[in-house]
Amino acid sequence: MATKEIPYKIYLEENEIPKQWYNVRADMKNKPAPLLNPATNKPCTLEDLEKVFCTELAKQELNDTDAWIDIPQEILDFYKMYRPAPLVRAYCLEKELDTPAHIYYKFEGNNTSGSHKLNSAIAQAYYAKQQGLKGVTTETGAGQWGTALSMACSYFDLDCQVYMVKVSYEQKPFRREVMRTYGAKVTPSPSMETEVGRKINREFPGTTGSLGCAISEAVEAATKQEGYRYVLGSVLSQVLLHQTVIGLETKAALDKYDIVPDIIIGCAGGGSNLGGLISPFAGEMLRGEKKYQIIAVEPMSCPSLTRGRYVYDFCDTGKVCPLAKMYTLGSGYIPAPNHAGGLRYHGMSSIVSQLYDDGYLEARSVKQTDVFEAAQKFARVEGILPAPESSHAIKVAIDEAMKCKETGEEKNIVFGLTGTGYFDMVAYQKFNDGLMEDYCPTDEEIAASLAKCPKV
Ligand SMILES: *Cc1c(COP(=O)(O)O)cnc(C)c1O
Repeated sequence: MATKEIPYKIYLEENEIPKQWYNVRADMKNKPAPLLNPATNKPCTLEDLEKVFCTELAKQELNDTDAWIDIPQEILDFYKMYRPAPLVRAYCLEKELDTPAHIYYKFEGNNTSGSHKLNSAIAQAYYAKQQGLKGVTTETGAGQWGTALSMACSYFDLDCQVYMVKVSYEQKPFRREVMRTYGAKVTPSPSMETEVGRKINREFPGTTGSLGCAISEAVEAATKQEGYRYVLGSVLSQVLLHQTVIGLETKAALDKYDIVPDIIIGCAGGGSNLGGLISPFAGEMLRGEKKYQIIAVEPMSCPSLTRGRYVYDFCDTGKVCPLAKMYTLGSGYIPAPNHAGGLRYHGMSSIVSQLYDDGYLEARSVKQTDVFEAAQKFARVEGILPAPESSHAIKVAIDEAMKCKETGEEKNIVFGLTGTGYFDMVAYQKFNDGLMEDYCPTDEEIAASLAKCPKV
């Protein structure tokens, strides 16, 4: 029983923004498997990685040992513009559900990019600037990452080149214009500007693109221009590290009111927000100090944890990136065209994959119509219009709160509300018009895609 009355929003003070990121790998007995150089199948060295990534970020990628990594002052100063993010007690949702559970959500949508991605974008732009680079290249799907990176690059006066999955480029013109407002150059992918883009266009005429394909183009663009490096908004261990600011703030806010979470829930695309949210809590579990129920939520149409295999795979369609051991559906897997809810990457962060394989977290997959139903319910009582991605976590938080209603348990449920959904109104429109469909891939489809994983 908490002794103090808990406010709707638990705010931290500005000077309570974490000054270090927490590297959960340091506390993992089974470390995530190393990235492999696709040419040699040997673990990537710093030398391999720094051709593609900024040197300091490559070092973070390889760092399995330092538990705490200082956040540079320039990044902390930027964090102050939109952090600390509030931890909200969902009193209105609890009342609507008539549940004895206490529901909390960490809201990361309070910045123009509309998501948690800015936490890593600003760090990556900072290290690129420190290295004296001219600019960075990247891919974006729905556009949140590209937006976050363009904001970060304009802050540090870096050139920003974004390869945007063609279907999103055409369907989300406003996202594109936000990026251009911040000075980014946005190119629909596959383009005719890179070798890999031209090859994909030749092989698949009229293709509307995919994330894996846009990654290949961005990597090629980075390695072919002097003074450029490639940056990625999810999946990598460095990104998960930067996102631990979410979990550290969440823990600090809960500690203020002596709240101990029973269940911690996050949506999982590439695993960065989930990994960032759970890292401090998983650390306690790894050190044998505490026990929590941690749930990763993924879309039924892109179920890498629940139906994928834990093997080495390509990170991109063009097969130019290092190989990563992860839960994967195969790098050629593309979710059904009627899938609107984001989280469409074929693989999963190697940290999250290893924690899942070791039983520290469970995974659930959910149907997109259920996700939008949960989103609508949440929007109507809590005010915030959630991103479809975030709504996967809302869906399972509601499920767990309803279980508490049956059992009468007063559990503390914490979930990550990663962003807002203002640019996802085409998907909401489909849902509102009753035209949204669910898709569940067959075992055969998944097996066919997995058969193309490299033999390592
Ligand atoms: C990108 C994104 C996600 C998924 O990415 P992860 O790396 O799995 O965290 C979730 N929610 C929002 C709002 C996003 O923009």
